[in-house]
Amino acid sequence: MTTAIPRQQTAEPAAPRMHFSALAKPAGAACNLDCTYCFFLSKELLYDEAGQRMSDHDLERFISDFLDSQPDGDVSIEWQGGEPTLRGLPFFKRAVELSEKYRRPAQDVTHSIQTNGTLITDEWADFLAENHFLVGLSIDGPAQYHDVYRVNKAGRGTQAQVLRAWEILQRHHVDTNILCTVHAGNADHPHEVYRYFRDALGAEFIQFIPIVERVTPAQRDIAEAGWHGQGEERPLYRQRGSDVTSRSVGPEQWGAFLSTIFDEWVKRDVGRVFVQLFDVTVGNAMGIYTLCTHSPTCGNAIAVLHNGDVYACDHYVEPAYLRGNIATESMRDIVASPEQRRFGMSKMTELSAQCQACDVRWACQGGCPKDRFVKTLDGRELNYLCEGYRTFFRHAQPDVAAMVSLVQSGRKACGIMDMPRDEDGRLLQPVPTAGAQGPEPTMSERSSGRPGKPKAKVKPKARAKKGGRRRR
Ligand code: SF4
Ligand code: SF4
Repeated sequence: MTTAIPRQQTAEPAAPRMHFSALAKPAGAACNLDCTYCFFLSKELLYDEAGQRMSDHDLERFISDFLDSQPDGDVSIEWQGGEPTLRGLPFFKRAVELSEKYRRPAQDVTHSIQTNGTLITDEWADFLAENHFLVGLSIDGPAQYHDVYRVNKAGRGTQAQVLRAWEILQRHHVDTNILCTVHAGNADHPHEVYRYFRDALGAEFIQFIPIVERVTPAQRDIAEAGWHGQGEERPLYRQRGSDVTSRSVGPEQWGAFLSTIFDEWVKRDVGRVFVQLFDVTVGNAMGIYTLCTHSPTCGNAIAVLHNGDVYACDHYVEPAYLRGNIATESMRDIVASPEQRRFGMSKMTELSAQCQACDVRWACQGGCPKDRFVKTLDGRELNYLCEGYRTFFRHAQPDVAAMVSLVQSGRKACGIMDMPRDEDGRLLQPVPTAGAQGPEPTMSERSSGRPGKPKAKVKPKARAKKGGRRRR
């Protein structure tokens, strides 16, 4: 028997329903692994209590409030960690039950979960498939690259366990995409990493996320040992400092990594392998922003901790960005609050002069503010990855423009693979400049995607093959 969570009584009319994403952390920052680069492990320092777990009461409050806040249509409930599967299968069965209880008839609710895969069993996979979860599985490539930093508490590599999870998920036809972080251990091996996912695993959806671990000079030595450490010196990761750890990807490496994979993808894989950033770049060229990192503004992707605390963003789970708690405020009000709007708008208003004049701003939009810590002459801060972004977006521009032309003339983007190229692989046909295709939006409400979450859009073909998404 469940009881409805009473809504906060207020004399003010409720804010209108709005699209935003809320990344819920049912096991707090707890994880069964000790990936060396995972700064989120340090976030357990924010709370005194041991065993940070979302209670049934907070779970119900979260789901009822979130579904109440969202408009009709597709709604995605996102679970992340730490490691969310630590919260156990009964918790997620209850989450599905509650989302059925609180969804409006015109809402089509999807759950997505980002996991390290090590606890996935046949029982889990049965449940995930049955309930149409979208699963993001963290794999950093073949074992020699994955195991550099993705290690267990004994310091041993975890690739074999993750591979086992991939196989179980595939066997049960769970919609799964690969989330690959790009770091000092794999960044120089783009072909091997990409071909491993495509050919060895048969992956169709891939996200590449750059590892950038900011540190102050004082933190650096401690941080190099990883963020899981014990003892009084253990730092809470905050977005401050202009040094990076040795695990972080270099700007040049990031640009070369993306460009190399793009070259292979655009000649043979368009339409059958979906690489998030490549899709996002084509979208940006048409004025359609789907990823906050490369949208003009952000602020529509909050993080909800195990105890209901709400932070401005998953990357800003630190005291200065605590926005409230779902026990006392609706998430809709938090997202619409002046301080959160300012946070989101500052992505655009704080752009450096260099970004404002940049020829690939249409695609980059200055990147994520968390990575902007290189001082510029105008006193603002430039993205640490700027050189990589500039390299990649310039490199991709002719092909992106050609794909946009194909799409806008009613053809498929995969037609790019039939277009003639010179011996260096460059397109022979002149194409318009990407970025001039669509209007520049002035507000961010169209951007809700956030890096590091399972891809919410699954291509129709995959759904059809698996019997189709549940419709009501
Ligand atoms: S762009 Fe960065 S700071 Fe803004 S919502 Fe996205 S991840 Fe958070
Ligand atoms: S490539 Fe560099 S200068 Fe251009 S928008 Fe991105 S961060 Fe700014």
